[in-house]
Amino acid sequence: MHLQFYGAAGEVTGSCHILRVQGRTVLLDCGLIQGGAEPDARNRAPFPFEASQVDAVILSHAHIDHCGRLPLLRQRGFRGPVYATAACRDLARILLADSAYMAERDAERANRRREERRGGHAQRRDREHRAGRGARSGWIQPLFTVEDAAEVIGQFETVPYGQATQVLPGVQVTFRDAGHILGSASVWLDLEEGEARRRVVFSGDVGQYDTPILRDPEGDGHADVVVMESTYGDRLHRDRAATLDEFGSILRQARSGGGNVLIPAFAVGRSQEILYELAAHFDEWEVGRWQVFLDSPMAIEASQVYLRHPELYDAEARAAHRNLDRIPALPNLALCRTATESMAINAVRDGAIIIAGSGMCTGGRIVHHLKLNLPRPECNVIFSGFQAMGTPGRAIVDGRPFVRIHGEPVPVRASVHTLGGFSAHGDQADLLRWQATLQGKPQTWLVHGESSGADGMREALARKGVAAHVARPMQYLDLAALG
Ligand code: ZN
Repeated sequence: MHLQFYGAAGEVTGSCHILRVQGRTVLLDCGLIQGGAEPDARNRAPFPFEASQVDAVILSHAHIDHCGRLPLLRQRGFRGPVYATAACRDLARILLADSAYMAERDAERANRRREERRGGHAQRRDREHRAGRGARSGWIQPLFTVEDAAEVIGQFETVPYGQATQVLPGVQVTFRDAGHILGSASVWLDLEEGEARRRVVFSGDVGQYDTPILRDPEGDGHADVVVMESTYGDRLHRDRAATLDEFGSILRQARSGGGNVLIPAFAVGRSQEILYELAAHFDEWEVGRWQVFLDSPMAIEASQVYLRHPELYDAEARAAHRNLDRIPALPNLALCRTATESMAINAVRDGAIIIAGSGMCTGGRIVHHLKLNLPRPECNVIFSGFQAMGTPGRAIVDGRPFVRIHGEPVPVRASVHTLGGFSAHGDQADLLRWQATLQGKPQTWLVHGESSGADGMREALARKGVAAHVARPMQYLDLAALG
């Protein structure tokens, strides 16, 4: 009976841990590596296990850094079940299809560029043909295809929160709400091998307490080992009430200045949260004076998944849902699915709130809106999520006078705001609060954090008398040999 840390040890993406019990292999998550050095090559590298020998995957939630390599696992021979909550499966279907579509499109573009270069070197191509290599030698394949993504979704088996389920001999799983995105779970594992009985808790991504729509992270129970995330283990988020006040005052000021407001947002989670807050503060923030556009087919689809699962809301959102029979209740919301609908927004020069992806402005429809609105001093851009180094979003937040969009320099004259209190991840205080609900003084291993997050969490836990360890990649933990 042992656990091996594989992905998201010492970093925040590529979540994947390997559990072996009674000779069977179970993966906890199978996420995509994003950002950092050469993520594509790392994602393409062979797994440290035979994909066809994996007996089951247990998935904590639908974010791509937790489920994004499932289609690749399928492509390489995995045919076992993927256990997840129903809302997690519904969101994973949307996110994996999008991820696969982008992978196919990127590969196509790269191949087209290659073809064009070859076109300019007709003689060399002829030589290659004569040498028998053919024009398609070295063709770039997408990491996985839309078909791989659809097939692996067919392997999902859904399990409701709180229901203990035997998934393999000696492996019983219970999902408990992690309060991070809809359908997100902490995974409680009851393991048995020979004489050894162990309770291992994998936190997944832990949300903030007291956020809208979602319930608080659940804990409370005995554990022998806990593997917990530490993304924001070294910091505290800005107070939520102050963040909402700031959001409201930016909107009121922006309306009197004329111009539009752009909100780059992740399609799953953040877009729904922003819409919910706009509805909840409709009168107070004078939202009725705006036209609100959700310009993202993926965010629209994800919102429908949120609407289909009112049983997962917190009490406040449930009450709102009952009273208004839809969330968000925005009478002035336009959903833009088609490119034509999106382009029609270009004609609105004043009074539009445009919510679109991608969250870090690396692509998607927000890029077109930035191009039109960034040079206009009467416009506002509101960031609500983390902006990674090297992204256009980061350049704008850092106050650069120009950003490059589609290869062209675009002047930044609009006002730029950053709202600190929106995060799907709990901060240090939230993580401490969650860990403190576990009884039995579990051995605590920190994953899913860059070194600052994990070290900050380790120090904070030490101050509470908990000696935690920072997991190293490929580190092996003998669960039977504990205590
Ligand atoms: Zn997540």
